Amino acid sequence: MSISDRILMPFTLPNGVELKNRLLMAPMTTCTGINNGMVSAELVEYYRVRAGSIGTVIVECCFIDNKGLAFPGAIGIDDDDKIAGLAQIARAIKSQGSKAILQIYHGGRMVEPELIGGRSPVAPSAIAAPREGAAKPLALTAEQVEYTISQFGDGVRRAIAAGFDGVEIHGANTYLIQQFYSPHSNQRSDRWGGSRDKRTRFPLAVLDITHRMAREYADDAFIIGYRFSPEELEEPGIRFDDTMYLLEKLADRGLHYLHFSMGYFLRPSIVDTGDSRPLIEKYIAMRSVKLAQVPVMGVGGVVNKSDTDLALEHGYDLVAVGKACIAYPDWTDRIASQQILELFIDSTQREALTIPEPLWRFSLVDAMIRDMSLSAKKFKPGVFRQKVQDADTQLMINVSLETDRITDITLEPDASADVAFVTSFDTIRSRILDANSPHVDAVSGATTQSEAVKKAVAKALAISCKAQIVAEGGNPTEAQRYDVVVIGSGGAGLAAAIQASDDGASVLIIEKMPTIGGNTIKASVGMNAAETRFQKLKGIVDSKAQFYQETLKGGNFKNNTQLLNRFVQQAPQAVEWLAERGIELNDITITGGMSIDRTHRPADGSAVGGFLISGLVKNINKRSIDLMLDTSVSEILYTDGAVSGVRVINDDQEQQTIISKSVIVASGGFSANSAMVVKYRPELAGFVTTNHQGATGGGIALLEAIGAATVDMGEIQIHPTVEQQTSYLISESIRGGGAILVNQQGERFFNEMETRDKVSAAIIGLAEKYAYIVFDEQVRLKNKAADEYLARGFVVSADSAAGLAGELNIDAATLQQTLARYNGFVADQCDTDFGRKTALRQPISQGPFYAIRIAPGVHHTMGGVVTNEDSAVLDAQNQLIPGAFAAGEVVGGLHGSNRIGGNAVADIIIFGIQAGSHAAKYARR
Ligand code: ADP
Repeated sequence: MSISDRILMPFTLPNGVELKNRLLMAPMTTCTGINNGMVSAELVEYYRVRAGSIGTVIVECCFIDNKGLAFPGAIGIDDDDKIAGLAQIARAIKSQGSKAILQIYHGGRMVEPELIGGRSPVAPSAIAAPREGAAKPLALTAEQVEYTISQFGDGVRRAIAAGFDGVEIHGANTYLIQQFYSPHSNQRSDRWGGSRDKRTRFPLAVLDITHRMAREYADDAFIIGYRFSPEELEEPGIRFDDTMYLLEKLADRGLHYLHFSMGYFLRPSIVDTGDSRPLIEKYIAMRSVKLAQVPVMGVGGVVNKSDTDLALEHGYDLVAVGKACIAYPDWTDRIASQQILELFIDSTQREALTIPEPLWRFSLVDAMIRDMSLSAKKFKPGVFRQKVQDADTQLMINVSLETDRITDITLEPDASADVAFVTSFDTIRSRILDANSPHVDAVSGATTQSEAVKKAVAKALAISCKAQIVAEGGNPTEAQRYDVVVIGSGGAGLAAAIQASDDGASVLIIEKMPTIGGNTIKASVGMNAAETRFQKLKGIVDSKAQFYQETLKGGNFKNNTQLLNRFVQQAPQAVEWLAERGIELNDITITGGMSIDRTHRPADGSAVGGFLISGLVKNINKRSIDLMLDTSVSEILYTDGAVSGVRVINDDQEQQTIISKSVIVASGGFSANSAMVVKYRPELAGFVTTNHQGATGGGIALLEAIGAATVDMGEIQIHPTVEQQTSYLISESIRGGGAILVNQQGERFFNEMETRDKVSAAIIGLAEKYAYIVFDEQVRLKNKAADEYLARGFVVSADSAAGLAGELNIDAATLQQTLARYNGFVADQCDTDFGRKTALRQPISQGPFYAIRIAPGVHHTMGGVVTNEDSAVLDAQNQLIPGAFAAGEVVGGLHGSNRIGGNAVADIIIFGIQAGSHAAKYARR
């Protein structure tokens, strides 16, 4: 067998336990402990994703005493209440098929007083560590020494109770156990100090109690390892022959492995600098037959398979891998498949790699982070002071910039800052620093504050950029050049920008609002597509032809069939396109007008809009795509028979020209422009709209000015279920989840799953012109949106149907009869009153019962500019306007006279991708 194969082959420890390979994840500080050393959920996940192919995971050191933690965020095993959390880690690791070992320690004099509430650390003797600012410790009394040993024993007992396969005694890194062996830190004159032999007593006593606990609470399979530092620099200090002396004694007592603690597994002596021989060679040469029976593990600097080969060649039996396992959770699989790895972490990948936030900031990881999200822009280094302003707050922040990155953001102390702001600031600050971009998700519950901070950081970046251009002798007002300019940062614009960038184009997104996401961010239900992988996984049999027919029927046969055909054909690829970019819509529901579950949404059933925009923006950051907020396109430039750029104006009224070869208009619809709505549909005067205030249809006018034709402008959809006080849309997923609509008499009046136009007309036809969506606990449990509506105060609830009727001023008997009758239809799967055929999911019978009062609101404008199926804009003669592309709600025709729920998100992604691709191709032709 070659050395190469050996590392991945099983290995048997002296107690007969078989490790499935010779690889171990090294114990590494994560600083992720919470509440005095408890385990957090993200720490459990961190270990879970790293277990699996690697034979063993050694979990970071746990302090056995609350005076023993050597760094912030350490986790502990000092109390029985820590067992449950640690058990979650053990279970997570073992569930993936790896062995789980826990390292236990006490920091001794290496503990900083501020970590232990200002108390003095303890040590064998009252001698401070030889480093600047080290506190002088208190010498442990003989009684305390015995007690500390018993605490190690308790730690072992708890590790066993938590389900670990073994413990590693941390006798290295100048922590307490090593301090007892060191002639520098241990100058005791009792039985625990003095001669070298006496100094071995404490480490041996810890090993003895570990064995005792293993015998008492576990069985022979319990693994006991010991980590040691081979030398120390202190004078006097532990030298290599001292180490060999201790190790021989430990081996006599019985051990299952020794862990050679060094920064590089082939490191030579740090004391005898004239000797270049790796210490492992000296170790192999000097060890006794007895010691040779204890497997030895190397650590430090292992990144590739070649490193593991080298370690085995030098006599190590086992290899521990540290940083590479953080950077590559599936490291073992990678080296098994001969991948050559470089040790760095993409700055945008923290979440994808399941690296807890505190670990991300820890020097060990920080040094590995490589910034992949940087714009090509150069900043002028320095600290840029900016005002953060929202309705309630005005504070100052300082944004520190290096030439290529944001290095820090600090809030200037201000007595007027409220606690909520300061708390949310910390979170948004971390997000911005992580992404190295102001374009990050707002902190939930503190959206306006987050947006204000993001805006201030973006301003600081813009000012610094301009300053740098001036410093380099350039002219900051000179027109910038891009291959592709995208107007609008909704789903269509972001998808287009990502695709154009992936196709090699330089891209700029221009958004007139202060935030990213357009109306898309409000989308709730999901994305329709037929014949997708996710449908197949759920056993849903669907066909593109049926999707086509139902959309056509829903659109009253007015749809542009060329667009519709492309739409239906491309939908499954678009779902995959998103999944490949980390945006998985793998849960499936149904909307009105569709006969099959084909509306794809996030796994947890949450609203699609925020999820989609958040994922798309991460992709924008990753690709360094430039983005201007608060900047409106006032004109599309057209010269020599083709689009040549745009004129923009920002919120400081500064105008600018941007030169580009193609322009993608993804500016959304015009539902929020009531004058425009009423121009085409006078009867909609006074209707509320569900749309964001930026949906004013400006993009249509921009394109009309360069000759674009429009179509279906009067086809304006009203959504049937809008909460009227707030104009908040109540998602179709509630009806799709099994809710019904009742009138003020408590009676159903229409098929709730009909298309939006028909349901809206039925509600407007009621004398009261509103209705109630009624549902029960079962519907709520399956729809996250329902909880949001509850939180927003839209929902009336009661324990019983009669109680609900009382709250709504409806006759209780009528509502009960309505529910009983509907529940009968669910049982028969046949609605003989109104012909509802879908979403007859379950009876509405489990309290609490809920109702939301709704009426229609303007929701979607189906009309817009004319494009061909390649998203190229056409003029009145059906001729291409060179360089002009459009996608999303700004385009007319696809939906005919009524858009089906779930088809807008599909529209923006499918045609966004396509517009991006064709615009990039045109620009680079
Ligand atoms: P879609 O669903 O088609 O992607 P959205 O409504 O989600 O459309 O997004 C369109 C975005 O375009 C909105 O954020 C809107 O503010 C922005 N927008 C509209 N007109 C302009 C303009 N003239 N300049 C810049 N951005 C614009």
